[in-house]
Amino acid sequence: MSCLFCRIVAGEIPATKVYEDDTVIAFRDLHPQAPLHVLVVPKVHVSTLNDLEGQHDALVGVMVRRAAEIAKEHGYTERGYRTVFNCNGDAGQTVFHIHLHVLAGRGLAWPPG
Ligand code: AMP
Ligand code: ZN
Repeated sequence: MSCLFCRIVAGEIPATKVYEDDTVIAFRDLHPQAPLHVLVVPKVHVSTLNDLEGQHDALVGVMVRRAAEIAKEHGYTERGYRTVFNCNGDAGQTVFHIHLHVLAGRGLAWPPG
C-alpha cells in the first residue's frame, strides 16, 4: 500500500489522532500552518475531488460536519476557522487521498496565496 493516508488509516504510520470512527479519521497536520491544523480523512481511498461519485455524497457530508465539530471542540466556533480541500497541482495538493484541512487560531488571509 503506497498511499500515505491509507497507511495512516491502517495504523502503519503514526499520527496524532483527534478523532476516529468507522468512516473518517482526523489527525494533526505534520507541518501545521495555524495553531489548530487538522486533516479530516476518509477511510476509503479517493485520490482527488475529481474522483468523487454520487456514492461519496454522504461521506463528504460527514467530513464537513466533522470539521465543524473539531473546530467546536477546540473553541473556534465563534471566532472562526477555515476548511480547505486542495485539488491537484495549482491548488498545491501533495497527498492524493482526499482530506479536508481545518485551520484555526490566527487570522487567515483572503484571497489565499
Ligand atoms: P495537501 O497539500 O492539501 O495535499 O495537504 C497534505 C498535507 O498533509 C500537508 O499539509 C502536509 O503537511 C500533511 N502531511 C504530510 N505527511 C503527513 C503525515 N505523515 N502526517 C500528518 N500530516 C502530513
Ligand atoms: Zn489512500
